[in-house]
Amino acid sequence: MAIRVWDYLAEYHQERADLLDAIEKVFRSGNLILGESVDGFEDEFAAYHGMSHCIGVDNGTNAIKLALQAMGVGPGDEVITVSNTAAPTVLAIDAVGARAVFVDVHEQDCLMHVDRVAEVITPRTKAVLPVHLYGQCVDMTALGRLAADHGLLILEDCAQAHGARQHGRLAGTMGDAAAFSFYPTKVLGAYGDGGAVVTADEAIDGSLRRLRYYGMEKVYYVVETPGHNCRLDAVQAEILRRKLTRLDAYIEARRAVARRYAEGLGDILDATGLTLPSVTAGNEHVYYLYVVRHPQRDTIIERLRAYDITLTISYPWPVHTMTGFRRLRYADGSLPVTERLAGEIFSLPMYPSMPRDRQDKVIGALREVLETL
Ligand SMILES: *Cc1c(COP(=O)(O)O)cnc(C)c1O
Repeated sequence: MAIRVWDYLAEYHQERADLLDAIEKVFRSGNLILGESVDGFEDEFAAYHGMSHCIGVDNGTNAIKLALQAMGVGPGDEVITVSNTAAPTVLAIDAVGARAVFVDVHEQDCLMHVDRVAEVITPRTKAVLPVHLYGQCVDMTALGRLAADHGLLILEDCAQAHGARQHGRLAGTMGDAAAFSFYPTKVLGAYGDGGAVVTADEAIDGSLRRLRYYGMEKVYYVVETPGHNCRLDAVQAEILRRKLTRLDAYIEARRAVARRYAEGLGDILDATGLTLPSVTAGNEHVYYLYVVRHPQRDTIIERLRAYDITLTISYPWPVHTMTGFRRLRYADGSLPVTERLAGEIFSLPMYPSMPRDRQDKVIGALREVLETL
């Protein structure tokens, strides 16, 4: 029984009839680009968030990129974010010609250290891009206050935080706009690529609709401002509509797996040096990833291979240390907490349809490995 960090096949077998019906519906609709399925998903995803606008796009990276453009971020501007994120966060900032400026993170939850943001604000700072990493939110109360004081825009990277809440508010409703990814592994995942931006700002909505459609108002065939082709695919949109009705159930299933890990491993933490994920006060975690820490991370991962368990690290290299971003000129050691965490974190298998016997096998194998280190 090979165990991987993520697997969708059990879920596919459960939902197969509904998913194939979604595909059939689009194929029979006579309209393969945008159309009713994309409109419907946009309405329903906006309504889930209690927001007025949702714009479907082709993936999460372009959701961030187009949202930044629609917010007026471009060459010469600086965008404050974190280095312990999926590289696409920073690629999107780069793609609009802006400069990514990094702040370090909190040791406990690996999230943006909001107190550090003020230290790196310059006259060129245009926006802050908090990443709700692993499934819980950055401190948006403090960040919102800071952004208001300094006249900065906030774009939330919600690629890992569908359905996460902070003091009752949903991720994606606490800034000027929010970018989502529906990459298959995400909490709301498509059967291929997809993304969306959610906003309450009518101007951002209008601008984004043009940017994803060559820069045209759809009916006129005239480019107003050169844009892109970044539409959400109709088949993925219809699949996402079906899965959105089950989003809260997926989240509950993820939380059940997290509880089981905590029950199965909680008694050996002091003796073994393992650290489980901590949920920051006010946050409701959706466990996109179940990220644990240990100083001997690499040995643990290596030994678990003998049990046919393959784990991953999200993420082993902070973005500022990557060859492709050396030109941002962040020396090694410049973000000490981020860099230390990158050497210790690893992810346990986590997906809503994960069978109980696999959860037990992961717990048992990890206990054996840790107790014989
Ligand atoms: C997945 C992810 C993205 C990019 O989304 P894609 O759909 O893969 O382009 C951006 N930011 C974060 C934090 C992510 O996890």
